[in-house]
This record gives sequence, C-alpha cells and structure tokens, in this order.
Amino acid sequence: MKCWAKSVSECSSTQSREHYISKGLFSDKTLFVDNAPFLGGGSKEIAKASLTKKCLCKKHNEQLSIYDDEAIRFGDALKYCLELSAKRRNSTAKKFSPHRKNVDADRFSRWFLKTYLGLFEFFKYPSAIAPETLAALVFSESAITEFLKLEVSMAVSEEFQIVEVVSIAPLEKDEKTIGMQVQLYGVRLNGFFSDKPEYSQKPLKIRFNEYKQGKSCEIRFR
Ligand SMILES: [Zn+2]
Repeated sequence: MKCWAKSVSECSSTQSREHYISKGLFSDKTLFVDNAPFLGGGSKEIAKASLTKKCLCKKHNEQLSIYDDEAIRFGDALKYCLELSAKRRNSTAKKFSPHRKNVDADRFSRWFLKTYLGLFEFFKYPSAIAPETLAALVFSESAITEFLKLEVSMAVSEEFQIVEVVSIAPLEKDEKTIGMQVQLYGVRLNGFFSDKPEYSQKPLKIRFNEYKQGKSCEIRFR
C-alpha cells in the first residue's frame, strides 16, 4: 500500500489513484501543464486521466475530497473574477459594485499541503518540513492556517489568462524545499510551510482592479 497518510492513522486495504492536481479544477479532458515536476519539468498537453499516481489508500483519499472541493471553489472564483474583469474592461461606467467570493482558508490550506505531499518527491531538494508532519496537519482536528503562509505573487504588468493552464514549482531555500507555487489561470499562489503555528497573518485577499474604476472583484480567504 502506498499512502503518505499511513503515519497518521491506519490505512484501508484498497489502493486508490490520486490526481496530482484535483481533476475537478479543470473542465477539459486535456490539460496544459507547465513546469510539471512529474514530467521532468517540461511543458506538455496531457490527458487529465493520466495525471494520477498511487500515493493514498482509498480511506484516506476519500477523507480529503472536501479539500479538493474547496480548491475547485477557488478555481471557480478565480475564473468568475477574471471573466467579470474581461467583461468590465471596456465599460464606460465610473464605478463598479465589487463582487465577492469566499474561500475557506483552512480547507484550502489542507488542499495545498495534500497536493504538495503528492508531488514533493519530484522536487530537486528534500522537504524542509518532514512529510509526516505535513500529513498530520492535513488530518489535524484543529485549524491549520497558521502553519501555512499563502501569498499571491504577481507582477503588476502581467496579464491574467483565462485558459486552463496549471503550473507547479517548488520554493527553495538553502537546498531545501520550503514551499510550493501553484499557478492557476495566470495567478500565482505561493505557500510556505511551517511545523509551528507561526503565521498569524491576515487572511489572504486577491483583488481584481480595473484600470479606471478601481476594485471590481475580490476573493477572500476566511
Ligand atoms: Zn492510507
């Protein structure tokens, strides 16, 4: 049985196949993957169904599906804001009523760690935080948001893309992997991990502003 949660609790006897990146995040049958560690870092269009590996037992995999759902909520929110922005771009309105979407920060954090645990072995450097510690956080009974610092990394001049491209990269320091970057619809999210509850930052907000009218849409992690 291959299961990264085996140190957390007993596994079931059935192996399951887990998608590297939640399959529900993407509507197409194929997916353009950029800088994919499991493809040796290349960029490739690949069938969604083939992006799986055996890394969880059935029981543990099923317990994590609510976190996949939260990532899908985030993906949908991003898409919504970007589409709204495209619609509003050429508007002559003076001001917009801002639209808001909410994402559960704790569930999303667990999705982030779970995705990392399926991928970290492909990264160049070993994980700075023991995988068993991160696995315990994913299944923790108390909130874990202070163990993960999430930030949006995006240059001002960059254009968002409403295309289904996903890109994954390790965040490295002193020859260790200290976190992961997930890029979705052109928005880059950096997540840094800790084994202590040290990140008591304000919950992340992603704002979408129009050039003339200011705030148009916002995704709040709460
Ligand atoms: Zn298991």
